[in-house]
Formats: sequence, structure tokens, C-alpha cells
Amino acid sequence: MDFGLTEKQIMIRKITREFAEKHIAPVAEESDRVSELDPNVMEKMKEMNYFGTCIPEEYGGAGLHNDTIAFAICTEEIGRVDASWSITTGVHCSVCTYPIYRFGNDEQKEKFLIPLAKGEKIGAFCLTEANAGSDAGGVQLTAEKEGDEYILNGSKIFATNGGIAGTLLVVAKSGEINSRKQLTIFIVDTDTPGYSVGVKEDKLGVRASNTSELVFQDVRVPEENILGGLSNGFRLGLQILDFGRITIAAQCLGLAQGCLEASVKYSNEREQFGTKIGKFQGIQWKIADMTTDVESARLLTYKAAWMCDQKMDYGLSGSMAKLVASEAAMKAAHQAVQIHGGYGLMKAYPVERFFRDAKMGEYAVVSAA
Ligand SMILES: Cc1cc2nc3c(=O)[nH]c(=O)nc-3n(C[C@H](O)[C@H](O)[C@H](O)COP(=O)(O)OP(=O)(O)OC[C@H]3O[C@@H](n4cnc5c(N)ncnc54)[C@H](O)[C@@H]3O)c2cc1C
Repeated sequence: MDFGLTEKQIMIRKITREFAEKHIAPVAEESDRVSELDPNVMEKMKEMNYFGTCIPEEYGGAGLHNDTIAFAICTEEIGRVDASWSITTGVHCSVCTYPIYRFGNDEQKEKFLIPLAKGEKIGAFCLTEANAGSDAGGVQLTAEKEGDEYILNGSKIFATNGGIAGTLLVVAKSGEINSRKQLTIFIVDTDTPGYSVGVKEDKLGVRASNTSELVFQDVRVPEENILGGLSNGFRLGLQILDFGRITIAAQCLGLAQGCLEASVKYSNEREQFGTKIGKFQGIQWKIADMTTDVESARLLTYKAAWMCDQKMDYGLSGSMAKLVASEAAMKAAHQAVQIHGGYGLMKAYPVERFFRDAKMGEYAVVSAA
């Protein structure tokens, strides 16, 4: 059993860590405050091809489509400094762009994949509705056939990237009855008449990440925009979410790592009772527990990613990785704030933001189906 990373994966971690520390970390607090992604960071992320991470180079991507561990490392390193960015690129890559590469036909790849991979368009995955959350099969947004088009009516909520997206994957009810066998995924260009962005959510955490309601009123989508076949939406959706869970696990892993490092740093600086607080065994126990949780999350996340690359069934591993990593992030954020004492509640320290962001991992991008 080889737990080592490849030279390429080590290099990708180094480059992404440097990039995240140089460009994302300095503006993360302000982005959180104004609840907007920084446009300069957005441009730099495009230049670095982080929107095309798991897409082949021939479609404008970075060519890591067979290296999910490398993709997880990118997501982790971005999440280590700012979860708003790791959810933005994570959702774009894992549940919109990669599914088009995986399930799309040549024409769809040519038309939709290239602008997505280059970051010219941002992608979103739209499943959740007001009455279809954990029960993903309860989708009510309808797709009615007329000639060689489908007419979409209804609305979606909580769509990550929804308000900034150029391309959507929309799960719709394409039959008469409420049945998982009558769901279809449509690729929708947000320029299409009848489409509009509704409420932008004002959230506890990942505040800079855009989470929006999306409204569809007689939105006409050509038949050729069906992804992976008519009535195949539920089966495809489950596979899309399997990959999405590895990504959420990596986001949470990064956040937990960020909390751990901030805690070690602070406990080596802060003095009470005439000594560094890191000398107290009570603090050392917390750090030891955090370190163990982070490593467990990392092993499960990389294992699920590795299984994906080996073309093995990684569904269960991905779910376990997401569960353990999201809980590790919550625990680490709690302990990090605790170690910072009263300062942990102040915006001067990133753990205040990490604490609010950590909850995201237990919900984002559909937890069950
Ligand atoms: C930041 C953020 C980003 C998101 N991004 C996206 C996105 O990009 N695309 C998208 O489609 N959705 C997205 N979502 C929606 C997310 O996937 C849903 O919130 C999630 O699926 C849960 O649905 P719900 O909120 O309606 O909760 P509900 O399903 O109403 O659940 C409420 C409670 O009941 C529990 N529950 C539900 N069913 C059962 C059961 N059978 N047994 C026991 N307990 C149960 C749940 O665990 C939860 O505690 C996002 C959400 C958030 C917060």
C-alpha cells in the first residue's frame, strides 16, 4: 500500500498553497464582509486554470481528469484559506463541468465545456427546490416537450454560483407523474429568455460564495441540451453527487487544516501565566485531537479520490469521507476559536470566519438522495 503523493501532486499542492496565500488569503475577510467574491482573485483563478481542473487540455482544462487526488489537493489548499472560494470552484468543477465532460456528447462538450473549463462561464448544479431538499426525487420544476424543445417552469433554491453562473445543470421533471424515473438533467444557458436570478441568500458562512434562488418561466431549451439521456436524471444525479461529495470532503479538510495551523500558531504566540499557552497540556490535547481528525479526513478523502481514479465504486468511500471531513471541520473550528479565547470571536483572526464557514460542509450540494 503506497500512501505517497506523486511528484506532480506535490508540485500542485505547493503551487496552489502559494497562490492561495498570496492572492486569496489577503482579501478573504473583506470578501466575507461584503458577501462577494473578489473580482481580481476571480481573474487570477482563471489564469491558473482552477475552473478547468478536472477537464482535459483539449477542452481548455488543466488535464487532471484522471487525477482526482490532485483535484482534491487543489480544493483542500484553496479551502485552507477561504471556504467561499473552495465551494465556488468545487461546485463549478465537480457538479457542473466534470459531469458535462463525463456524460455529455461531443457537441455538448464543444459548446459548453470549453468556456466552463476556461472560467469564461461559471457553472452551477440546480437540484434543490423549496420542497425537494434531502428528498431529491421530489423535484417539481417541469420540463414539457413542445416540438424539438422543452419548456422549463419552476424554481430552484440554494444554488451555489447560481447568481454568477453562465451555464446550469438543471434537474427537471420531464414526465407526468412524480417519479425518480421521470427526471432529466438539462444544460441551460443563463442567457435564455425566461430565466432569472431570484433571492441571493444572506448566509451564516461561506458568505462570499453566491447562493441563489433561480426562476424559470417558460424557458425554452433545445432537446440536444439533455445531458445523458431523457429520464436518466436521477441515476446521473446520484453519480454527480458521488463525485461532489469527494469535493466537499476536500473543502472541509482544507478548512480543518486551516483551523489547526491557526491554533498551533496562536498557542505558540499567546502567553498567559508567564508562559506560552501551547505549553499547557489542556491546549496540547486539543491540538493532538485536531491533528488526528484532520489526518483521518485526509486519508478518507484521498482514498475516495484514488478509488475514483482506479474506476472503482467510490460512492460509499466518498460519503464516509464527506461525513468525517465535515465533522472534523466543525470540531476543528470549535476548538480553534476556543484556543483563541476571546480573540477567537474577533474578525482580526481568521478562525472567526472559519467557525461560521465550517457548517457549510454538512449541507452544501445535497446531502442525501
Ligand atoms: C451553502 C449551501 C450550498 C448549497 N449548494 C447547493 C447546490 O449547489 N445545488 C443544490 O441543488 N443544492 C444546494 N444546497 C442545498 C442542499 O443540498 C440542501 O440544503 C440539502 O440537500 C438539505 O435539504 P434541505 O435544506 O431542504 O433540508 P431538509 O431535507 O428539509 O432536512 C431538514 C432536516 O431533516 C433531516 N432529514 C431529512 N430527511 C431525513 C430522513 N429521511 N431521515 C432523517 N432525517 C432526515 C435532515 O438531515 C435535516 O436535518 C446548498 C445548501 C447550502 C446550505
